[in-house]
Order: sequence, then structure tokens, then C-alpha cells
Amino acid sequence: MSLTITNLSKTYPNGTQALRGVNLTIPTGMFGLLGPNGAGKSSLMRTIATLQDADTGSIMLDNIDVLRDKEAVRRVLGYLPQEFGVYPKVSAEELLDHFATLKGIASGRERKEMVAALLHQTNLYDVRKKHVGGYSGGMKQRFGIAQALLGNPRLIIVDEPTAGLDPAERNRFHNLLSEIGENIIVILSTHIVSDVSDLCRQMAIINKGEVLLTGDPLRVMEALRGRVWKKLIEKVELPALQASERVISSRLFAGKTVVHVLADSAPDSGFEVVSPDLEDVYFSEISGR
Ligand code: ADP
Repeated sequence: MSLTITNLSKTYPNGTQALRGVNLTIPTGMFGLLGPNGAGKSSLMRTIATLQDADTGSIMLDNIDVLRDKEAVRRVLGYLPQEFGVYPKVSAEELLDHFATLKGIASGRERKEMVAALLHQTNLYDVRKKHVGGYSGGMKQRFGIAQALLGNPRLIIVDEPTAGLDPAERNRFHNLLSEIGENIIVILSTHIVSDVSDLCRQMAIINKGEVLLTGDPLRVMEALRGRVWKKLIEKVELPALQASERVISSRLFAGKTVVHVLADSAPDSGFEVVSPDLEDVYFSEISGR
């Protein structure tokens, strides 16, 4: 199974060009779509989820034409949107049962079994009688996954799932995602680099509506080996360094500034070569254009 996106473009009525000729092939397993806010991730996710139309291009899920045969996509799709909207004063158990009915699962017994299994899987069984509106951020996200998994979807889209979660909740959420399985397509859209490096075997970086890079995170990191240099500098030195070198990131560490520079050889003797991580890949793509 694979999802093939060809030459997809979208301009909103106000003139914002959110997608510019996007080409992507997404295989089974966890796929990370990484990009800063405003990159076009949600526009792409909503289009794949049949919630909005593109201006040009095509999306094929095996032989389903996603932009035309929306009903067929919806039968195999699980979607966790960025904003889940209002949480009604209904228990998780009742709400899941309701969503299962909407998914066309008519048998009450089948729904009951499925809902109980998903509540266990997402570790919400003990709080199944509580109103979803009163859940913590992490619990809401796990509930979101439970509803996305209803009806055994073959394609799951999760949009910015860990934004706003504390580290423990995020960890639980990562574990849950990683258990979903290798046999379906899971697209994880995020601006958090470690979400992708922790979970995804394939990834793409998108910015300003364009795909800048695709591949296996380990390979794309390896491709930068020997070209990422680190130095501890004073903050006042940064502008001069930025003018002379390709600074891909700078962050504070113990009151000093740690810079990473992309260069074929050491810019000066104060630099040491570092093992590239996915942040280096990400910032070198985002900053260089
Ligand atoms: P991301 O999910 O990566 O943050 P979005 O797809 O939400 O990116 O947004 C891409 C661009 O499209 C942004 O400039 C955003 O302001 C704009 N945009 C998103 N939705 C709309 C809309 N409904 N109408 C107009 N502009 C939009």
C-alpha cells in the first residue's frame, strides 16, 4: 500500500499559496512530515483527509483517486486533526460508540467490543466514564487516536499531535503511535524534529508549500557527516559569524552560545566536527533558502 501525491498545488481565496507542486510517495509505516508553522502541513493533511480540495494535482491511495472518490478514502481513513474542536460533556466510552456508529459499524455488540479494545489500547479504560472535556491534553490526544483507529483504518493522519503535551504524556503518546503497526500508512505532521527522529522510518521536510527533502532520517543525517561544525561563542560574535558562515542553528548553553555551521572544512580552529542530528538536517534545509 502506498500514497502517491503528484504535483499538488493549492492557493487559498485570499491569495496565500499553501502548496506548490508537492510530489511525495508515502509507503506503509510511520511517515514524518516536518516543517515550521505555516509550511503547508495542515493544508496537505486536510487535502489527503478529503476535507478540502486542491487546485491541481492528484493523490492516489493505491488505486483510489483520493480527490475524486472521497467516500472510498473515508472508509479506510483515520484522522486526528490539529484542533479537535469542542469536547462535548459526554464520556469517552459514549463518544467512541457514537463515532463507531458514524463509521457504519451497525452491530451494538461489535461496537462495544471495539470501543473496549481501543480504550484499553490507549490506556483510557479506567477513565472511560469521565467526560472527554475534563481530560488532560495527553488524554485528549490518546482519545483522538482511539477515535482515529475505529474501523481498522489503512491510512492514519495525525496533525501536530504532541504540541502542548508534557514530556511524560508525549512519551506515552509516542509509544502508542509506535504500536499502531507497520502494515498501514501513518502520516505524522509536526514541527517538532524529535517526533520524527524518534518514530519515523521515512520523512519529508516541507517549507513554504514545497517539499525540500525526502528520505530515511538516518540516511539524510549521514549525508551531512563531516560538514557540521560546532563552536561555543559569545552572543556578540554571532552576527559576524552569520555574515561569513552558513550558521544553521544557534542556541544558548550555560550562558554561552552554541553554534552549528555547515561547511566543507572547519571555518577556524575553534570549531569541532559533530555527528549530524536531524535538527541539523532540518535547520540546514529551512535556513538555507
Ligand atoms: P502548517 O500546518 O504547516 O502550519 P498550514 O497548511 O496551516 O501550515 O498553512 C499554510 C499557509 O496557508 C499559511 O500561510 C496559512 O496562514 C495559510 N492558510 C491555511 N489555511 C488557510 C485558509 N483557510 N485560508 C487562507 N489561508 C490559509
